[in-house]
Amino acid sequence: MIQNFISEEKSLACVHCGLCLSACPTYLETGNENDSPRGRIYLMRNIQTQRVTVDNTVMRHIDLCLGCRACENACPSGVEYGHLLEHARDYFEKTHNRSFSQTFLRRIAIEQVFPFPWRLKFVLFFSTILRLPIFRWALPQFAKESLLLLPKEAISKSPPEYSPSLEKNVGRVGFIEGCVMQVMFGATHDNSIALLNQQGWDVASPKKQGCCGALYAHSGQLDKARECARNNIAAFEREKLDAIIINAAGCGSTLKEYGQLLGNDPAWSERAARFSAKVKDLSEWITPENLKPSNREIIVTYQDACHLAHPQGVTAEPRELVKAVAGDNYIELQEADVCCGSAGSYNLTEPEMAKKLQNRKVRNLIDTGAEIVVTANPGCLLQIQSGLKKAGSGMKIMHLADYLIEYGE
Ligand code: SF4
Ligand code: SF4
Repeated sequence: MIQNFISEEKSLACVHCGLCLSACPTYLETGNENDSPRGRIYLMRNIQTQRVTVDNTVMRHIDLCLGCRACENACPSGVEYGHLLEHARDYFEKTHNRSFSQTFLRRIAIEQVFPFPWRLKFVLFFSTILRLPIFRWALPQFAKESLLLLPKEAISKSPPEYSPSLEKNVGRVGFIEGCVMQVMFGATHDNSIALLNQQGWDVASPKKQGCCGALYAHSGQLDKARECARNNIAAFEREKLDAIIINAAGCGSTLKEYGQLLGNDPAWSERAARFSAKVKDLSEWITPENLKPSNREIIVTYQDACHLAHPQGVTAEPRELVKAVAGDNYIELQEADVCCGSAGSYNLTEPEMAKKLQNRKVRNLIDTGAEIVVTANPGCLLQIQSGLKKAGSGMKIMHLADYLIEYGE
């Protein structure tokens, strides 16, 4: 009997041409065909037709996928790899028994913490205690490395429910506060809203919003991701909005795909599609015209967050904004859109591969000679910050909104 967990049509769109191989970070690192997009699609199809069973070996190849979706951009056949991966993972999580340690890490330590701001705040507080030398020496290497990912000083702050425009009002936008963003990057929220207000936008951030569901969608928990989507659609539908702004790339790509996520739910599909059509990354909404060039001679580069560059195709807009401030001091980064290894919670579940990709990113960054690297996703900020620190580099990493406010005024 065929288990139809992935769409036959979507999986058959892959013609095994191999043009995606050189874009796939895990294939570049391992050289193993099973760690490539076409290899993984082949595995999914063979499981669907019951020629292969889901065992630990298959799961290694699927788990090792970053979900970065660089392969989608490289694919001339338009294979929707992200969609196939999410549905395959959803099926595998229901049918494959993971070890106790992996189940604890994924289902408890990650999924029961990150989408819940108060729990995440508690973990942050606890991590400051673990960082004390008296405790630190006793920690295993993995725990020491994980602690490096957390910021030393996190500003936890929910955006206000309403922030009025400063200039002549041009309209009203919604603002997504996110889970990690509100707990660790409260100042970035302030700066994002300040940029919107300066450009004439009233900003509404409804209190009933919650986790976007990206973490669940990427880890094979599609029903939970759908619950998150319904909650957010209902929270934002109450407002009359020109757009819904997000400043975290990972959340943005899931929010833009609510239409697809709830496509088979007759009560929600149209509402979800309307919601998704309004979602914009901050860089897609603010314009460079109002930004002032910096008079500081500081070399700046830009790192693409995978989920902004690949599924959303937003690469030119953030660069234009950075260049409006940096001018001739902007320098392009080699392999700017190759994943840094963060990939949501990947750096916790697959630390070895995440470290290889972190080192690769840091080497490329140091080669630019830049003093600042700008990006647009909390995962990249934390992953690159810890990589630069380990490499002894003084390069500063900043969210786009923070860079524009600090250097563009
Ligand atoms: S995913 Fe696309 S690029 Fe990769 S092998 Fe299949 S058809 Fe070719
Ligand atoms: S999502 Fe990224 S890691 Fe996974 S197959 Fe595609 S390019 Fe490779």
